[in-house]
Amino acid sequence: MKRYAAEEIRNVAIVAHGGAGKTSLAEAMLYVAGAIDRQGRVDDGTTVTDFDSEEIRRKVSIQCAIAILEWRGMKVNLVDVPGYADFAGEAAGALRAVDGAIFVASAQASGIDVGFQVAWEYAEAEKIARCVFVNKMDKEHSDFFRIVDSLRSRYGKAIAAAEIPIGVGEQFHGVVDLVHRKAYVFVAGEKVDHPDGVPAELEETVEKYRELLIESAVENDDELLEKYLAGETLSAEEIERGLHEGMVAGAVVPVTCGAALKDMGVRFLLDLICDEFPSPAERPLVPAAQGSPANARKPECNESLPLIAQVFKTVADPYVGKLSYFRVYSGALRSDSSVFNPRTGREERVGQVYVLRGKQQIAVQEIAAGDIGAVPRFNDVLTGDTLCDAKKPVELVRIDHPEPVYAVAITAKTKVDEDKLGPALRRLQDENPAFEVRRDAQTGETLMVAAGETHIEVLVERLKRFGAQVEMALPSVPYLETVTGTAKAEGRHKKQTGGRGQYGDCWIEIEPLERGAGFQFIDAVVGGAIPRQFIPAVEKGIRDAMARGTVSGNPVVDIRVKLYDGKYHDVDSSEAAFKIAGSLAFHNAVALAHPAILEPIVSVDVRVPEEYLGDCIGDLNSRRGHVLGMERIEGRGSVDAMQLVHATVPQRELLRYAIDLRSLTHGRGSFTTLLSHYQEAPALIAQAVIAEAKDRGFTTHHEA
Ligand code: GDP
Ligand code: MG
Repeated sequence: MKRYAAEEIRNVAIVAHGGAGKTSLAEAMLYVAGAIDRQGRVDDGTTVTDFDSEEIRRKVSIQCAIAILEWRGMKVNLVDVPGYADFAGEAAGALRAVDGAIFVASAQASGIDVGFQVAWEYAEAEKIARCVFVNKMDKEHSDFFRIVDSLRSRYGKAIAAAEIPIGVGEQFHGVVDLVHRKAYVFVAGEKVDHPDGVPAELEETVEKYRELLIESAVENDDELLEKYLAGETLSAEEIERGLHEGMVAGAVVPVTCGAALKDMGVRFLLDLICDEFPSPAERPLVPAAQGSPANARKPECNESLPLIAQVFKTVADPYVGKLSYFRVYSGALRSDSSVFNPRTGREERVGQVYVLRGKQQIAVQEIAAGDIGAVPRFNDVLTGDTLCDAKKPVELVRIDHPEPVYAVAITAKTKVDEDKLGPALRRLQDENPAFEVRRDAQTGETLMVAAGETHIEVLVERLKRFGAQVEMALPSVPYLETVTGTAKAEGRHKKQTGGRGQYGDCWIEIEPLERGAGFQFIDAVVGGAIPRQFIPAVEKGIRDAMARGTVSGNPVVDIRVKLYDGKYHDVDSSEAAFKIAGSLAFHNAVALAHPAILEPIVSVDVRVPEEYLGDCIGDLNSRRGHVLGMERIEGRGSVDAMQLVHATVPQRELLRYAIDLRSLTHGRGSFTTLLSHYQEAPALIAQAVIAEAKDRGFTTHHEA
């Protein structure tokens, strides 16, 4: 493989809503550039970047894939990013690693899809250069201008059509380049001069959109702006200069069009990437993290400096093993070397370094500053880790992944699955920072927490590949029990079965304590009604009964139990007998003291675009939620203003919130949760909890 200087590299993500044609576009670019001899199709499962068996089965991308190609002597690292909301975590990593992004919009869409908007916000946060490719121009009812106009009304002047289509649907056959007022036709994917020049019926449209393009181009260059405002005519070179400067700053976003499946408009896009997208050397630097080692310095795109690289994705596969995708910011990462990981404070061995084209790994000597590559089998390296020189340690800001919010409880199908489950979960967690495994201490359940249902399905499919099949269920809510009244009761255990009998008898008083107080046991026995040595046995009996629960199988908390009287037998009394007596007394007392169910209340922060605020609050109310306050988050650049709603909601009502909020806000809402406190459940809910416990087979259990 040829060596490329940073100036000859372009790192480009392809992002959009699912289905817009990203994977098809990546395939077309690879084909047009000669990186592959045969153009695959998503529908046939034959593309380079959808190579995972789950992607082929589902016909959608579920993870980032990298594919390199060469265009006009430059190396282009394409990163195909999945578009569905469940895989937003993939976009976060990819958009850190690249310097530019192609946003794909379907010309058939009525407006700007959610996946597009979400990716736009990441791109805006990482300040990367962008262009838009309006795809599927060959399809019926496609409308380039509808997309351009919706983009412009959403994101403002930054948006500027760089070309306009000639013909639509089946008639789509060429474009007019607005900078040069030049018409082209597509002939077998090639772009050749239009024999008749700009079609007369398009002249007016060309002038209209050219004017808008110039307006966007001069905005970022004072000299050009002055000239423009003075009414002078700008040359094509000047317009291009303005566009380039604006694009590098992320302030101008040119819009192009084509049809990926027919290789139309793909060359223009490749040219645009090479001519106008910033090289890694032009990219504003990724800042060092706070608390990064003292001699931290900012990375500079120079391969003779010490190494600074960041891992932006990890793939864990039972066949291929672990593969870490990284971007080098400074220095070079070499095969057969070692690198330092500041997170662990340890050196990591580097074996063979690769560049990737889908699943194909191409061995190389090194990956130098500005470039992207992959290393297999790192020992302890996670997504987001910095790899550097041990003598010059530096840690880059970690990648902000969306917090996982949708939990399911899993159980291994068989004993064999169970043995494989732990290690498989750990490997998946390594791979996927947007996924977490938790164990609920009270319910004992193992929870997989991810972005949504599809994300979970894909992860479960992965577990299967690691040899661990699981069953899924909604998680159990960790309820608690308590009492709301005071009561006295006796517990008497007496058994006479020939030989030595069993005898224990105690009287207790139970009373409620405030929330969070736990359990108090008071020994108020006087006059030796129960001999000293048996009192701990009574307490033990009570504690065991509390742990098992009395009405719903959940632990009893926040009570005080006073043991104040009892009887014993010289021969038949024993610790075991008093333990049972304690448990019986407890059950009897609870039944008289108005038992209640406590439910966990979660504090929730919901972030929604302003237009959904009313619906969001209505929905929280219907979940027995209390809205505590609201905050407006001002929009940044071309990102919409949002509302942040603080509320408390019973955990029971939030089990499917990740799914419901997404459909309520068309994917634009997000939320985080934190356990807040426990609160007495209303009667209807308490009855439901008790009935659910019965269904699970819980019986009020008097040990006797
Ligand atoms: P992604 O989810 O953005 O990666 O989209 P895909 O590349 O998987 O494409 C989604 C669907 O649109 C597939 O069925 C493609 O065959 C189809 N498609 C993609 N590009 C075009 C195009 O330019 N024209 C037509 N007619 N169909 C396309
Ligand atoms: Mg795709």
